[in-house]
Amino acid sequence: MHQWTTHSPEETMNFSEQMAVYLQPGDVLTLSGDLGAGKTIFTKGLAKGLGIREMVNSPTFTIVKEYHSGRLPLYHMDVYRISDDEDIGLEDYFEQDGVAVVEWAENIPSWLPDDVLSVVIERVNDHERIITCTANGSRSERINEEISKHERTSH
Ligand code: ADP
Ligand code: MG
Repeated sequence: MHQWTTHSPEETMNFSEQMAVYLQPGDVLTLSGDLGAGKTIFTKGLAKGLGIREMVNSPTFTIVKEYHSGRLPLYHMDVYRISDDEDIGLEDYFEQDGVAVVEWAENIPSWLPDDVLSVVIERVNDHERIITCTANGSRSERINEEISKHERTSH
């Protein structure tokens, strides 16, 4: 488990932008945290780091948005309105060659692969967020190790 504190939306975006460098095809990130915590901001940084040129917005109403203009495809999901007993076919995305990012992943535990990087964002106050990254297997552990090395050397 690794923890980071950010003090602005820009800092959160910088963090996830750096993380994007280490992502490989098939990686899955789950994003948890209250409404307004910064899950979509985090995803915007990730998209930037992947070199995606399109505008990334919250897919709350469409559930999934795909972006194909970067180094890897990005599948951005928001399952706020979905429950675990609905089969909406999301598991297909986890087997493709892109990176899947799932906002409100706690709503669909049985559809997720085991090895996900779990990212929890907690709101401390208007500007401060605590980001906790927990690995659940070797694939997500690699991302966590890489980003922690990077952060240590950049400070
Ligand atoms: P979520 O997707 O979790 O509902 P959003 O990313 O849409 O949240 O919104 C996060 C809000 O919090 C934005 O209005 C953003 O400007 C604000 N914010 C303030 N400080 C931070 C920070 N350190 N990191 C991320 N967002 C922040
Ligand atoms: Mg959101």
